[in-house]
Amino acid sequence: MQPPILNIRDLEVEYDTSKGQLKAVAGLSLEVRQREVVGLVGESGCGKSSVALAINRLIPSPPGRITGGQILYKGRDLLSVSERKMRSIRGGEIAQMFQDPMTYLNPVMKVRTQLAETIAAHQGLSGPRALDGAIELLERLHIPSPSRIIESYPHELSGGMRQRVLLAMAISCNPSLLVADEPTTALDVTIQMQILNLLKESVTDLQTSLLLITHDLGVVAEICDRVYVIYCGKVIEHGNVYQIFENPQHPYTRGLLGSALSIAEFKEDLVAIEGAVPNMLSPPLGCAFHPRCPSCMYVCTNRLPEILQMEPDHQVACWLFSNHV
Ligand code: SF4
Repeated sequence: MQPPILNIRDLEVEYDTSKGQLKAVAGLSLEVRQREVVGLVGESGCGKSSVALAINRLIPSPPGRITGGQILYKGRDLLSVSERKMRSIRGGEIAQMFQDPMTYLNPVMKVRTQLAETIAAHQGLSGPRALDGAIELLERLHIPSPSRIIESYPHELSGGMRQRVLLAMAISCNPSLLVADEPTTALDVTIQMQILNLLKESVTDLQTSLLLITHDLGVVAEICDRVYVIYCGKVIEHGNVYQIFENPQHPYTRGLLGSALSIAEFKEDLVAIEGAVPNMLSPPLGCAFHPRCPSCMYVCTNRLPEILQMEPDHQVACWLFSNHV
């Protein structure tokens, strides 16, 4: 088994709001091994994006802050390195992709300037060599007419093309880890598949590890080796992609899969998870999923479930499988 390149332990992230403190991440642990593609999946509002931001220490502060845990990257806790060191790791070793490339691309600069600057910063190339490197990268991502794309401003490109440019910038530093937060959510289905295939191809070629954050189980099934399912800022089940898709244990994972399969098969009796993600300002006691869970028992309403090992590398946090109830 490959050693983890990223090991997050008991991470906690909070935000101040006008109504009180909101705990977006509540003791989350996960690991990404070398050259592995790991999915972090859950509904909107479960804390996924806060995990993505925390890895690169980009939680906006105020109102947010990391209040506990460790983020070990190659064994070193990123929460205790200097900001200077963090700047060299961010973008240099850990690259990030976002749902909306326009939040990352500068709208008043041509692609050539942005890409060549990134290459110059990370590869030490300058002038024409950086520009050649930029065109080469776009060609590697199968972008047609790279010389035309490079002379465009971001607003002149389609959403899919902007996401490709962002991927080119992300991999230009040959990162050890890529964190992609909903990279295909804003795109139509055909383009989604193209971007996913490019992501997969790029991380395989570069031997990069990928943490893919998404609400879409179809995306997870397509490219992930292992999956963490998150609910209310905590991992409630994790396993390899076969364990999660063929033998899901947690009622929430089963509900997510039920909804996804029903939509895919156009079933009329759509299986959806009843209710909504709780307000994280006042999360439920006990198992956070209990107000929505069809298997809820009394213990679930007042005690946090134990984390149980179901099979090697397959864990679940649910009282249904405990011998202590
Ligand atoms: Fe449902 Fe209880 Fe399991 Fe939570 S711990 S998922 S409420 S059965």
